[in-house]
Amino acid sequence: MLGFGLIAMLLVIGLPVALIAVLIWALTRRGNFSVPAPVPVHQNAASARTCSHCGVALQADWSHCPQCGAPV
Ligand SMILES: [Zn+2]
Repeated sequence: MLGFGLIAMLLVIGLPVALIAVLIWALTRRGNFSVPAPVPVHQNAASARTCSHCGVALQADWSHCPQCGAPV
């Protein structure tokens, strides 16, 4: 019954290895999820003017960006 013994041995060795692999996979997935996605700087249609330096929305009567101070 060498075959059965081999299968039993594979199960005994393979089960912890599979568990560790799943654990690493889960941790890696969680790690990927924790990485914050870069928030795209999107201007809404209402504010036509935006700072060319940092992309912040500007009001029509502003001459300088309140975020970075760049003249607009
Ligand atoms: Zn700016």
